[in-house]
Amino acid sequence: MLRYCTHCVMPNTKPDLSFNEEGVCDACLSAEHKKEIDWSAREVEFRELAQKFKNKSASNYDCVIPISGGKDSHYQVYMARKYGLNPLMVNFEATLRNDLGRKNLENIRQFGDVIEFKKNPDAYKKMCLEGLRRVGDHEWPNHIGIFTFPIRVAVQFGIPLVIWGENSQLEYGGPKAARMKNVLDRRWLEEFGGLLGLRVDDLVGAQGLTQEDLISYFYPSDEELKKAGIFGAFLGYYFKWDARPQVELMKTLGFSIKEDGPVEGTYTNYENLDDAVVAIHDYLKFVKFGFGRATDHACLDIRNKRLTRNEAVKLVTQYDGKWPHIAVAEFLRYFALSLEEFDQIVDSFTNRSLFETDADGSFKRDADRSLIKRYQNYSIEAQREPVAP
Ligand SMILES: [Zn+2]
Repeated sequence: MLRYCTHCVMPNTKPDLSFNEEGVCDACLSAEHKKEIDWSAREVEFRELAQKFKNKSASNYDCVIPISGGKDSHYQVYMARKYGLNPLMVNFEATLRNDLGRKNLENIRQFGDVIEFKKNPDAYKKMCLEGLRRVGDHEWPNHIGIFTFPIRVAVQFGIPLVIWGENSQLEYGGPKAARMKNVLDRRWLEEFGGLLGLRVDDLVGAQGLTQEDLISYFYPSDEELKKAGIFGAFLGYYFKWDARPQVELMKTLGFSIKEDGPVEGTYTNYENLDDAVVAIHDYLKFVKFGFGRATDHACLDIRNKRLTRNEAVKLVTQYDGKWPHIAVAEFLRYFALSLEEFDQIVDSFTNRSLFETDADGSFKRDADRSLIKRYQNYSIEAQREPVAP
C-alpha cells in the first residue's frame, strides 16, 4: 500500500525519496532547509561566478543557456542578463512543438541569440519508440537532447559556463548529496536526467539507427569537457526557486501561459506548455508510480504555503492520472500507432499492485478510460497505521 508524506501528498513510490520518523518526505525537509539558506550570500556567489566568466570565452558569449522557451528558460536568461552576462541560448526542439511553444520561443529571442536544434524526425521518432518500449518513456531522447546538445555547443564554441535552472533534487526531493549540489555534470545527468538506465549506445542498430543518426545525442568526452573547462551551474542553487512569482515576472516580459484552462494531467497552466504529447510522459509516470504531475505541483504549492494538505488532496484526486485524451490522440497520429499497440505498451509498464484488474488480468477502466486505483488514502492516520504483511 502507498504511504504518503504527512506534510505534502507525495507517495513513497517516488524513486529516491525517503521519509523521516514523522512520515515527512525529504523534499519537504529540504524546503524547510531552504529557509535557513543565506540567499544574499548565495547571490554574492552568483555575482562572483558571473564576474569570473564574463568576457572569458573564445566567442562573444559569456554563457550557454539551454532553453525550451518555457517559464524557467525565460527566468534563466533574464537573470543572466541582469548579472551582466551575454547568453547564447540553445534549444533542443520539443517532441511535438505546439503553437504556444512556438510563440514563447519567439518571445525569448528578445534576450539574445538562439541556436535551435531541429531534429531529424525519422531518427527521433525511432528513438522515442525505443524509449517507450524499453523504459516506458517516449521522451527519453528529449531528456538526452536537452542535457547533451547544449553541452556540445558549449564545447564547440568554447563557452565554459552553462547555466541550468532549478536543481530538481532540491525542489522535488532526492539524495541529500544531490540536493546540496550546485553543479550539473555527466554524473548528474546519468543519475537524475531521466535516462532510466538506457544509453545512446544501446540504440545503435535498433530500427536501423546508425551512429551518425545519434551523433548529436552523445555527451562530449571528459577530455573535451576538461579542455573547454565546462562548468554547469544550477541557478536554483544561487536564488530561491519559486515558479509562481517567476511566472508573474516573466509574463511582464511577454511570456504566455495557457489561457484556456489547465495543462492536461494537472491543475496549473504555466509549465510544459510547448509540447502536444508531454502529458503521455506524465501519464507513464503515473502508471509506474501511482502519482502524476498534479501531485508534483500540489506538493510545491503546499511547501510554498499556497495550498493546505486537504486542498491538495482534492486537486490531486481530481486531476492526477486521468486518461489523457488529447495527448493520446496526438501521440497515436504522430507516431502512427494504434490504440491497441499503445495500450499494450503502457500496460506492460503499469504497476499491477496499484491498479484494479479483471479476472483475466487486464486493467479495469472507468467510463473515461482512466485506471481504477487500489490505493489512495491520504489521511494522516492512514499513514501511521501498521503496514499489513
Ligand atoms: Zn513531503
